[in-house]
Amino acid sequence: MTLTELTLTEALSQLRARQISAVELTQAHLDRIAALEPRIGAYLTLTPERALEQARQADARRANGEDAPLLGIPLGVKDVLCTEGVPTTAGSRILEGFVPPYTATVVQRLFASGAIMLGKTNTDEFAMGSSTENSAYHITHNPHRLDRIPGGSSGGSAAAVAARLAMGALGTDTGGSVRQPAAMCGVVGIKPSYGRVSRYGLIAFASSLDQVGALGRTVRDATALLQIISGHDPLDSTSLNAPVPDYSAALTGKVKGLRIGVPKEYFISGIQPEVEAAVRAAIAQLEALGAEIREVSLPHTDYGLPIYYLIAPAEASANLARFDGVRYGPRAANGGGMWEMYRNTRGTGFGKEVKRRIMLGTYALSAGYYDAYYLKAQKGRTLIKRDFDRAFAEVDVIATPTAPRTAFRIGEKVDDPLQMYLEDVFTLPINLAGICGISLPCGYDAENLPIGLQILAPAFGEEKALRAAYAYEQSAEWHKRTPAFAEN
Ligand code: GLN
Repeated sequence: MTLTELTLTEALSQLRARQISAVELTQAHLDRIAALEPRIGAYLTLTPERALEQARQADARRANGEDAPLLGIPLGVKDVLCTEGVPTTAGSRILEGFVPPYTATVVQRLFASGAIMLGKTNTDEFAMGSSTENSAYHITHNPHRLDRIPGGSSGGSAAAVAARLAMGALGTDTGGSVRQPAAMCGVVGIKPSYGRVSRYGLIAFASSLDQVGALGRTVRDATALLQIISGHDPLDSTSLNAPVPDYSAALTGKVKGLRIGVPKEYFISGIQPEVEAAVRAAIAQLEALGAEIREVSLPHTDYGLPIYYLIAPAEASANLARFDGVRYGPRAANGGGMWEMYRNTRGTGFGKEVKRRIMLGTYALSAGYYDAYYLKAQKGRTLIKRDFDRAFAEVDVIATPTAPRTAFRIGEKVDDPLQMYLEDVFTLPINLAGICGISLPCGYDAENLPIGLQILAPAFGEEKALRAAYAYEQSAEWHKRTPAFAEN
């Protein structure tokens, strides 16, 4: 078996048994990247020398008798997370050439646990999008079919993991950006509860929704990353100061008695019939494994999308005000003085979608419209949260499709923002409610494109979602499929 075919978990045990070295494992990934990356485009920046240096250090630590949870494992990191000494662009021209002076806490924690960074993965600009086509640099291709999008905004991370160009990766999820690309690429993506993971060093999109998440080829692989990145950080006051459970203890394969809710509002017209069939079959399989299935209702589901598209752009318009050509990245010519410099920098530095969000957000927050839009959206957000509170009083987890359809064609929706926004109808209510969710493969459509099953649990109930996800995964074979790299 080639080294890149190993799962992260398998690689760890071979590293521990000294059957392979971190340098060999890292080199195998760099070789595969050299061969396949031109067709996939998963990375914005590759850091091969650094990766090999980290690998040599990992091997030296192991030779010294040391061990660490991810010692010697090569990973990808979404390019919205700051990495000291390595360019960090957030997929935007406005941060071209920006090299952060510090490293995000989550990345720091990966390094402390012995992980190796292969490079920074592609993303929609400032994580705004569902296809990675909004990256200002290049598009990313879905390894299952190269004419399809990998999902977004963590499309580079999902494609890298699916194509075996990394053993796992970090993504971020504001409205679905870890789960939806995981679904599109046939990998596992975990969006932790709001406050579970530090946001320090994450370039903010919408601060009340953003959460860093983990992508892996299997539930166990993604859980290994979740374990490391979770926990309180004094540098992020929204991170919860509470102990982190041993998540691997939830991976028992047993769901007997687990109550699984199926929300009727998530099986709507417009959903691809194969997606519905695969998700329903997965739910039936969980029932066969001993889970109890109940219908639940999340009556405000329809309002999720409009609420999200008021709150997220409002927060984004404030967060993105800092990119003015003074503090970070390139500065445009200032023939006419300061205001013209701001205007030119932002006018040329931001892409279309980012400008659209800034305008929407500024409008929603402006005097006279604030009550009608922003405030109303906040009230609606509370109703959505209450829907989940009520449902979780009756069930332990909720199962839904991750996205209404499988990966669409590159170019199909770029000029139709509303169609693009609709990709996230099943994922963004979860961020609004602050709860956690996992997407994992549950089938393939007739074109060989992966289908994602989403499992939701209450805030800080990650273990429940992991338990259901792992039991299902182990009873199915989807995670063993390799991408086809089909040309069309
Ligand atoms: N696709 C959604 C958006 O464009 C969600 C993005 C995300 O989760 N970062 O806002």
